[in-house]
Amino acid sequence: MDRILRGIMKYRQTDRKKMVEQFEIVKNRPEPKAVFFTCMDSRMIPTRFTETNVGDMFVVRNAGNIIPHSQHFVDEATTNEPAALELGCVVNDIRHIIVCGHSDCKAMNLLYALQCEEFSSQKNRRISPLRAWLSAHASSSLSKFQQLEMTGFDKPLVFHAETQMRKFVAYIDPEDKFCIADKLSQVNCLQQLQNIASYGFLKKRLEKHQLHIHALWFDIYTGDIYYFSRQNKRFVDVNEVTINMLEKEVLKYYS
Ligand SMILES: [Zn+2]
Repeated sequence: MDRILRGIMKYRQTDRKKMVEQFEIVKNRPEPKAVFFTCMDSRMIPTRFTETNVGDMFVVRNAGNIIPHSQHFVDEATTNEPAALELGCVVNDIRHIIVCGHSDCKAMNLLYALQCEEFSSQKNRRISPLRAWLSAHASSSLSKFQQLEMTGFDKPLVFHAETQMRKFVAYIDPEDKFCIADKLSQVNCLQQLQNIASYGFLKKRLEKHQLHIHALWFDIYTGDIYYFSRQNKRFVDVNEVTINMLEKEVLKYYS
């Protein structure tokens, strides 16, 4: 806490004045660009690695960057992430949703371990909210990953995003650069696109191409950031070589 208090003192002397000026601009002209879902991991600082600023993004964070499927919204049992979607995309009319996963994700490591029946038993879920959260809301990611394990990692997975009809194909880590839990993390990231699209209150916007869903993946070890390119059917490293191609894709399909 001492570290935080000292940080606040430093902020008062440095960034505070500029931030208050930016708050004023945003208040008068709010133009948020994206709802950004990512993991709560302390290494993930999305505003820094996307160089975004005050007013640019609504950020929602949880363990494993998960957006529960709408089937869990029955009787308002799970409300946090869907409420964030409504606040961002309906109340504030934001047109892009981004889900950002990452390597070495502790939640994904745990999800992988949940394949063990004893580890994921009801008794163990009762004493571990994290296991319960992942069992309830990320088991679809795990099933998809198991499907990949069965068919072979060189085979593609099929997801749907904005609508049931808008399917996309994904080769997961075709260069076999990442460990098994990181592959699961990439699958989990793409699975969230389906989960987001399951909400009825977004349906019209999604059907009319007014709202788009994207996936990013951050490699903690190298600092590289990957964008899921539907055209290339894989996560593509965003760098000096690929940026023009990715920008073209984004402008063509999602502007
Ligand atoms: Zn994580």
